Amino acid sequence: MMTYSKTLYRIFKRDGILSKHVPAYQPRRAQFEMANLVLRCLKQETHGLIEAGTGTGKSFGYTLPAVWWALKNEKRVIISTNTITLQQQLLEKELPMAHKVIRELAPELAEEFRYELAKGRSHYICKRRLEELWQDSLTTETPEREIVRQLREQLPAMKKGDREEIPLPVPPALFQAIQGDSDDCLGKNSPFYKQCFIQNARKKLQNAQIIVVNHALFFTHLILRRQGASILPEYDAVIMDEAHRVEDQVTKQYTYHVSIEEINILFNRFLKKRAHWARELDSSDLQQQTESIRARLVAKLVELFAPLARALAERPQNEYLLKKSIIANNEVAPLFKEWKTLFADKHKELKAAGGEEETVIGLSRYISQIEQMERMVTHVLCNESPDEWATWVAYEEPGAEGHRSLIRDDFAWASLLHLYSAPIDVSELLREELFTQKTVIMTSATLTTQGDFSFVANRMGIDEYEALETPSPFRYEQQAILLVPNEAPSPAEKEFEAFLIASMKEIVMTTRGRTFLLFTSYSQMNRVYEAMIPWLKRHGLTGLLHRPELSRDTLLQQFRSQPNHVLFGCESFWEGVDVPGDDLICVVIVKLPFPVPTDPLTKARMNRLDKRGQNSFREYMLPFSILRLKQGFGRLIRTRSDRGVVVILDSRLHTKPYGSEILASLPPARLTKSMDELHRFFTS
Ligand code: SF4
Repeated sequence: MMTYSKTLYRIFKRDGILSKHVPAYQPRRAQFEMANLVLRCLKQETHGLIEAGTGTGKSFGYTLPAVWWALKNEKRVIISTNTITLQQQLLEKELPMAHKVIRELAPELAEEFRYELAKGRSHYICKRRLEELWQDSLTTETPEREIVRQLREQLPAMKKGDREEIPLPVPPALFQAIQGDSDDCLGKNSPFYKQCFIQNARKKLQNAQIIVVNHALFFTHLILRRQGASILPEYDAVIMDEAHRVEDQVTKQYTYHVSIEEINILFNRFLKKRAHWARELDSSDLQQQTESIRARLVAKLVELFAPLARALAERPQNEYLLKKSIIANNEVAPLFKEWKTLFADKHKELKAAGGEEETVIGLSRYISQIEQMERMVTHVLCNESPDEWATWVAYEEPGAEGHRSLIRDDFAWASLLHLYSAPIDVSELLREELFTQKTVIMTSATLTTQGDFSFVANRMGIDEYEALETPSPFRYEQQAILLVPNEAPSPAEKEFEAFLIASMKEIVMTTRGRTFLLFTSYSQMNRVYEAMIPWLKRHGLTGLLHRPELSRDTLLQQFRSQPNHVLFGCESFWEGVDVPGDDLICVVIVKLPFPVPTDPLTKARMNRLDKRGQNSFREYMLPFSILRLKQGFGRLIRTRSDRGVVVILDSRLHTKPYGSEILASLPPARLTKSMDELHRFFTS
């Protein structure tokens, strides 16, 4: 039986502390239970998995107990999220509110309360790099000289030194040249170390009891910690919101990427850097030898990559999982050895001769980067540990030009080839790096399939945990209907797309806009958009298309600005989008969001399960799809007064045995098969 904390009761009860600060405050049992579980996990150092249904108020549900526990016990808690939107919300709403609450509970603790947002170093200006650019511009006229001059002038007035604080427009390429870069930081040996923006930001983190961070930065920190470095200070517990994205984010952070461009960037690091390093390195011999190694290494890679790129350009998919290694013997090893030796010798020589510290340190960093590159290149070319790592080749066409009509030489073909390698299963990594270290509480609106946490727990390597599933306070039975037409072709059939277009027209004719159309593939979304746009115009409706290069917030603002908007969305529109009220009354999901089986990583994950005698469909594809579908469904009802319809145009929910399992995992909206219900719902 759950025992409740008296302090949390004082905060959350009907006439409690929170009620004085939140207009029209309504206590929510689910939120109170969540807060109690969070506090218990923190006190008892146990992990927690909490699925908090939409409307639970989960951010307060973890922020308040975390702040209270951290202040009472002189601890530090990291709160990690997947999206910037949630980080902003925490910094602007929940954490300031927590401060007010603590002021009433224990004024002496409130005095000490500090919270900070941790950002990666690339968000900040590196003063040393800016100064070097300025010095260069004195000898060589550059188009950015005036901006660099103004920036330099503004530096003393800047407090944080991050991109948001820069008071003038800075072209992206220029910012890239002056942003913080761990591979190009001299640390204590930098002449700007004492006034460094990044160091100052790190110091502030040391004084904070709560640090907000994104998943990507948090997992980068874990990787660096393994190598003896760090971004974040020591912490006592971590709360991961939007935890359904953790597996993805960890996989991304551990993924290797190799291409000719990446290799060239590393060579250029030395060749460009040479101008700033001490005179000792300014020898044409060293440059010539480096250029010679570059030419031979790139030639070797062109020989390997060009035929692969040509072959991939002719195939239907542009990504393929490798079954064998690309090279039998590690033919690139001697070239890497030559490259490393060249710089190691130079490093030794300079050190012995008492060379400038900046150059000596810079060289030793550079050697580490060559070693890291060698590890990645060897790993992907030799397809190392194929049972543990998925290695694949991808053909990536820049821009939209038709590749077959272009005349390309071998180098141009090879430059289109990218190799990736990702861990197939991150559970062991997380078990070692995360769950055996500190208390971890994971929360999201979607962590269970049919009330069971085991899919997520297994994929993330969390063995023992306290679990809580809090139902949403919304009355889905009255607020929403779920329409799944049964007379529909299967998504695999040719007629499916025509059916989609006809159904969508019928739906938006009824809703007259305020509708999301959620797709699982960009190509299908673009085709349907093109087919519908003239029709929408004729009927006084406006289609808004989600393009990867367009910011989601901009598109959402546009969507809200007029009631006749129909949004065609993919990927990021399935989750984290909050459009409460009448601005969104209908969400149409084109088909069940199963992972694409030809995607190399999905394929590798399925192969691994099948090889172990497990059923990859039931144990991976199905639960994955359920979690994603719950996210998509969750876009519709955001408040107690919202009403609307979710339409899923995938008849497999009726025809396949797993259909009932999926339906049982969705919020309990009234299920119907008839389009007439949709008309009735909106006309009643
Ligand atoms: S310490 Fe590193 S990041 Fe900071 S100014 Fe110096 S070189 Fe740049």
